[in-house]
Amino acid sequence: MEIQEIVSNQKAFFKTQQTKNIKFRKMYLEKLRDIVIKNEDLLYEAIHKDFGKSRFDTFTTELSFVLNDIDYYLKNVSSFSKPKRVTTNLSNQIGKSSIHPEPLGCVLVIGAWNYPYQLSLSPMIAALAAGNCCILKPSEIAENTMKVMAQLINENFPPEYLYVYEGGIDETTALLQLKFDKIFFTGSTKVGKIVYKAAAEHLTPVVLELGGKSPAIVTKDADLEVAAKRIVWGKFLNAGQTCVAPDYLLVEESIHEQFLEMLRKQITEFQYGPDAEQYTRIINRRNFDRLVKLIDKDQLYFGGNSDERKLYIEPTLLNNVNWEDEVMQEEIFGPLLPVISFNSFNLVLNTILDLEKPLAAYLFTRNSEEKDAFTAKLSFGGGCINDVIMHLGNDRLPFGGVGNSGIGNYHGKFGFEAFSHQKSVLEKATWGEPSIKYPPYSEKKLNWIRKLL
Ligand code: NAD
Repeated sequence: MEIQEIVSNQKAFFKTQQTKNIKFRKMYLEKLRDIVIKNEDLLYEAIHKDFGKSRFDTFTTELSFVLNDIDYYLKNVSSFSKPKRVTTNLSNQIGKSSIHPEPLGCVLVIGAWNYPYQLSLSPMIAALAAGNCCILKPSEIAENTMKVMAQLINENFPPEYLYVYEGGIDETTALLQLKFDKIFFTGSTKVGKIVYKAAAEHLTPVVLELGGKSPAIVTKDADLEVAAKRIVWGKFLNAGQTCVAPDYLLVEESIHEQFLEMLRKQITEFQYGPDAEQYTRIINRRNFDRLVKLIDKDQLYFGGNSDERKLYIEPTLLNNVNWEDEVMQEEIFGPLLPVISFNSFNLVLNTILDLEKPLAAYLFTRNSEEKDAFTAKLSFGGGCINDVIMHLGNDRLPFGGVGNSGIGNYHGKFGFEAFSHQKSVLEKATWGEPSIKYPPYSEKKLNWIRKLL
């Protein structure tokens, strides 16, 4: 069946109102949970083939998120979907006011390859929980995970409700010509603009989960042991191919040398060798070549080795980096960590303020003035003080970018809201009609109205 036909079947199916039924939504969420649990090995195998990701990382950073999301929405879908009464203002008396969350219709989710399960399935789960029909287009770059998601979902779900469409740029370009009720895109800022333009043709609302260069600042007041451990973990998780990984480090001059040494030691302790189970490969040759080119041998503090047959790049620390260097121009999205030193905390905040708003920002310090200034002054999607990445794991926090790093957010109730319309309804009593609002007008009526409004 052609994709146009599947989309129009989804639109027709949505009109039957079946997806608005809470039991229907729960039945399919439970089904999805069973499918993920039963096929865990298949899911591990596919992602390992794509870029050598371990079972441990796949569970902690992908499947556990997916399973938690399903459970979260199973628990909350009824209360989230209920109409909510709000107070009615004086001029609308006698009446009652309520907000009715309603699904949008047929939505499109476009996923990225770096966390292929989580970034495709989590928004899709939120879309289904909110009562929509959904087309999922995972990233073709992680080909095996795309295929396994397509197989498992298309064999078990009616296509007029949920369908995984496999394809690359050509297929996505064609898909974007069609009219959807929402497009949820995860990927680069460059492609985000293409999606936004295509969506504008149909006035389709979007969520754009994009990238950017996320800074991590370490001041002399930080617990340096903890900072080194958490930064090394967060930077080299998934071999640096994480949208919220600390892209570069800003370290206070007085602790610069000491901290670099601690980072080096921590990398060694984590044992990220070329055959290590805990270290992921670079996704493809194109990205491998791009990253290797960014390693300036004169700035090498640690690492720098690579093996193109294994698509392995060693965790690499670059020292004495300048803002003008090539590695500081684009999001790195790989295991290279440039380090820049600073003298003034306030000046470094000002420098970040002059750049595009990042998806994440991190600060390591025990100084409360620094914490307050960081939170109050900088604008970023989300971040942590004294940790990296972990804000993502709290579904009470909305996850999304700002400015160049994205539009909109999701996770937890925010995901449900991203795929819902909040319909306002005012119900009036048919008695107690105040005649002063109706023509013919008079000064006396206006005076009364002035008092009332
Ligand atoms: P990408 O933008 O190349 O691809 C994302 C999706 O867009 C894929 O499904 C792909 O098939 C499709 N696509 C690619 N080119 C297209 C085109 N010309 N027209 C239409 N569709 C097209 O991104 P990627 O390489 O998969 O992911 C890396 C980027 O994504 C990084 O910038 C990273 O920071 C960002 N990212 C952001 C988040 C987040 O949650 N904010 C998460 C992961 C990755």
